[in-house]
Amino acid sequence: MHEQFMRECFQLAEKGRGYVSPNPLVGAVLVEEGRCVARGFHKRFGGVHAEVHCLRNYTGDLSNAVLYVNLEPCSHHGKTPPCTDLLIQRGVRKVVIAMKDPNPLVTGKGITQLRRAGIHVTVGVLEKEARHLNRFFVKHIANSLPYVLLKIAQTADGFIGRKNGSLEYITSPESRRLVHKWRSEYDAVLVGAGTIQADNPRLTVRLWTGRDPAAVILDGKFRLTGRERVFASARHRRVYFCVSKQAMKARPSMAKYFKSIGVNLIALAGRNGDLNLKSVLYELSARQIGSILVEGGSNVFSSFIRQRYVDELSVFCSPVVFGNGIPRFSEADRSNAMLREMILSSGFSARKSGTDILFTGTIA
Ligand SMILES: [Zn+2]
Repeated sequence: MHEQFMRECFQLAEKGRGYVSPNPLVGAVLVEEGRCVARGFHKRFGGVHAEVHCLRNYTGDLSNAVLYVNLEPCSHHGKTPPCTDLLIQRGVRKVVIAMKDPNPLVTGKGITQLRRAGIHVTVGVLEKEARHLNRFFVKHIANSLPYVLLKIAQTADGFIGRKNGSLEYITSPESRRLVHKWRSEYDAVLVGAGTIQADNPRLTVRLWTGRDPAAVILDGKFRLTGRERVFASARHRRVYFCVSKQAMKARPSMAKYFKSIGVNLIALAGRNGDLNLKSVLYELSARQIGSILVEGGSNVFSSFIRQRYVDELSVFCSPVVFGNGIPRFSEADRSNAMLREMILSSGFSARKSGTDILFTGTIA
């Protein structure tokens, strides 16, 4: 019984994906005599919490009702008043929760408050699933680092592009549509300057309905001009341009130009134009980027793999063969060995995506 209603909370929570981050996905259902009488979910960042939304949808007596919610109700004043106060005021007698709040500053406090008020609280129903649902939030809040999905689209012989710069799709339309769906769900899409120079991508959502993520471009050596397509979108979404402090100092007028077109510059320490990935991720996390979809190219893929900043991996493998081209990793031997190790120590699965095979797994 508990699990059935908790799964309904998950489905409701899922409706907020792409709109509530970096807040968690939360759904709530109110059950009376085994029947669901009200539902609610967290719809947008800063908006009404799921429990409040749910209780507003039911005006009757709550003394026999059970409230199901996939995350511990908040007990602190944030953008909205504490949900625990409302639950106590409305006279809820039983609450079933999937997982505690992963925020180390508040974890368990909501549950304690409810119990002190005499409410019967059950914790841990489908906890594993609940943690997976909110994996972006859990990572961001507990580690002050964004959750990273590394996405590689490669030919059957391991290339991610042509060396002569000619553009052609490697993967099927189904796979490209799936990547656009992911873009709409992640807080940011990240690429290196080489990818911007080679493909001039917009990094927006076009093959799916949803909002555009922030764009993050790593350019330690400050090679880009600001006239590339991705920068034009700085008018309607956040664009972060990460350069080394050294390169920024050497190009003061360029830095001024980037700022004038609305691009957010982040200057970081870096040797020979190689940015410290850890600093990049901390800076982005501090700017409320809780999840990142990394889309290329081979230098960026190698850095993320080597420095172990990958939480999840998706490799689209198409039946196309190039014979030669740009390899998926710049430091192929070491990166491939580490990737193999990651795959062996994690649960990986394969499925069809159009004419491609998609390998996915969460890194342990
Ligand atoms: Zn709340």
